[in-house]
Amino acid sequence: MTFSDLNLIEPILKALDAEGYTTPTPIQQQAIPYLLEERDLLGIAQTGTGKTAAFAIPILQLLDQNKLSTKGPRAIRALILTPTRELAIQIDESIAAYGRHMNLRHTVIFGGVSQHAQVNALRAGIDILVATPGRLLDLMGQGYINLRSLERFVLDEADRMLDMGFIHDVRKVIAQLPTRRQSLFFSATMPPEVAKLADTILNKPAKVEV
Ligand code: AMP
Repeated sequence: MTFSDLNLIEPILKALDAEGYTTPTPIQQQAIPYLLEERDLLGIAQTGTGKTAAFAIPILQLLDQNKLSTKGPRAIRALILTPTRELAIQIDESIAAYGRHMNLRHTVIFGGVSQHAQVNALRAGIDILVATPGRLLDLMGQGYINLRSLERFVLDEADRMLDMGFIHDVRKVIAQLPTRRQSLFFSATMPPEVAKLADTILNKPAKVEV
């Protein structure tokens, strides 16, 4: 199988080619078709399996295809929540790489640094936000982030979110999201507490395990 078999648009195929990707990984092969159909997804996969591209590629394609909401000022239409600053930066870099031939804007926010540059990036208007939970709630509380136009939500590394004590923050964020949305939930493991959280977020999800 190649990426061309997955019904991806030309700007994405071109970017993947430039990245040197030839074959989609198992999670990409299984997840991308469901995600392009706008299904919710439960993905049981670790880092290193190619899960970032498995969610980033279809999100870029769906946002690009939804021309209606690209009129007027930009609003955040996709949110990716991840537990650490390192992961957040990596995800944002992947989005930059896969979306390099597309007219979509993205930024990344995380704690431990001044909020100034992050607030300026948000003010410029973005389509895709990558965030860690604490800084996201902080900037939401200050009124810099509006999630009313959100269409797609990714919870990455859910088991680590729980391990790191972010469950309350994650729940607070979810309570602020529009109920009509596509949700993606990724975790390396599925202990009962994680499964319970997945249940509250997902609507009739497709399940992919690698
Ligand atoms: P991830 O599991 O998302 O952290 O990705 C692990 C690594 O695999 C990253 O360095 C990606 O750039 C790389 N990668 C993801 N998908 C592919 C692919 N289809 N072919 C080759 N490398 C890939």
